[in-house]
Amino acid sequence: MTTIDYERLYINGAWTAPESAKRIAVHSPTTEGLIGSVPEGTERDIDNAVAAARRAFDDPTGWAAWAPARRGEVLEQFAAALEARGAETARRVTIQNGMPIWLAMNFEAGFPAMLVRYYAGLVAAGLEERRQGMLGKQSLVLREPIGVVAAIVPWNVPQAITFLKLAPALAAGCTIVLKPAPETVLDAFLMAEAALEAGLPPGVINVVPAGREVGAYLVEHPGIDKVSFTGSSAAGRSIARTCGDLLRPVTLELGGKSAAIVLDDTDLSDLMESFFASTLLNNGQICWLGTRVLAPRSKYNTIVDTIAGLASSLQIGDPLDESTQIGPLVSQRQRDRVESYIEKGKSDGGRLVVGGGRPSDRDKGWFVEPTIFADVDRNATIAQEEIFGPVLAVIPYEDDDDAIAIANNTDYGLGGSVWTSDPERGAAFARRIRSGTVGVNGYVNDPVSPFGGIKSSGLGRELGPEGLSAFQTFKTIYLDEPNS
Ligand code: NAD
Repeated sequence: MTTIDYERLYINGAWTAPESAKRIAVHSPTTEGLIGSVPEGTERDIDNAVAAARRAFDDPTGWAAWAPARRGEVLEQFAAALEARGAETARRVTIQNGMPIWLAMNFEAGFPAMLVRYYAGLVAAGLEERRQGMLGKQSLVLREPIGVVAAIVPWNVPQAITFLKLAPALAAGCTIVLKPAPETVLDAFLMAEAALEAGLPPGVINVVPAGREVGAYLVEHPGIDKVSFTGSSAAGRSIARTCGDLLRPVTLELGGKSAAIVLDDTDLSDLMESFFASTLLNNGQICWLGTRVLAPRSKYNTIVDTIAGLASSLQIGDPLDESTQIGPLVSQRQRDRVESYIEKGKSDGGRLVVGGGRPSDRDKGWFVEPTIFADVDRNATIAQEEIFGPVLAVIPYEDDDDAIAIANNTDYGLGGSVWTSDPERGAAFARRIRSGTVGVNGYVNDPVSPFGGIKSSGLGRELGPEGLSAFQTFKTIYLDEPNS
């Protein structure tokens, strides 16, 4: 197989020589073979990228100063250039992180362009509002771009997560330094090709792939005005400390351990497709998945059997194959982590119902079988810590109040779902779950509504108009004009 290799970084609107000869090698999680490489960014590359973004932002006639409609024209070209690369973007994500290709076509191929158009449309409605005052005079409220943004993203859904940040930031008039995760860089370079083709002005987007130390350097760089981070809660805490010291605005989308509450009135077997999508999607590597399944004691065995049936029926294989439902985990390190949680689940007394090992028909690749534990104690490690793999803990509950108590017995608060034959009862249950988002009989992040977490799941929101506000600062001008 030919590898995908880049020799330069995308900085200041051009392919720019990196400051060092260091490289990031990307390996296939399916074959373990080398599939590509890019330059590894250094602190000097970050300096160059931040300087370019700073110049682009501070230019008094530049991107930030353009009328929304003018930015909107370029953003439409960007959306079209992304769309034209959609299938290749999906393929690159799949070969790098093991995301099944049908899912990559959904999440990674189309979502970025959809978000770019959505946010361009939101700002087209105007960025200022005239208000009648309570003290006799009018004021003008402006939504100004917050400045130069450091966007740091993980490997699990790399392009969709990148555009939760880039789309609103660009529409707002910000400029960006993006640091992709080292595991998924080839999709980020394809995105840079689209930015170049679309005619985004120099410095508006800059891409510097690197590891966590260079990421930390970017977070504290004096040229940065706003940090938008998605990743683990541990890294988020460290970034929050830095931003606290600097009084630098920060949005944090972090980990989760969400509850999927099955109510006693439902036949879960009728909802299998959406239950799969809410609990085991992307090989278990999504932050909002409902990985604690809460089942009523009265129907416990039936529900465990239904979920076990689902897990054992899933097709494991090459993620490029359209029929694959579970691909490999992103890396050997990630598989080690997931396997150590499976061992912990066993030693803590959970009943292993399905899975727990590696598929016997694959001698290469970082695969783990979909794994279901039953009779898991609500406080057990596998009921409390984020595993980030295809492992579900099924926990029994006594009654509705007990279900809510277990659902809220967590450091996290990102997602959640309620499964019921009565949608109104489901929505009433959802209100009682302490979490940023909850689905009824499914879980889908709609772009128009805010997404994000509470507690250890993060600070702030992405998506919806709220996600745009994260990249804006408000300025009030108290006018010398009486109310009209
Ligand atoms: P990670 O925190 O190790 O890395 C995420 C990104 O941050 C990478 O680009 C990494 O290089 C960088 N990074 C790590 N430490 C940093 C630091 N101190 N300063 C600056 N940059 C740093 O996470 P991961 O293992 O790549 O991703 C999995 C985690 O991401 C899971 O915990 C998952 O729940 C979380 N996640 C959250 C969301 C969400 O929207 N809430 C979405 C996807 C993933």
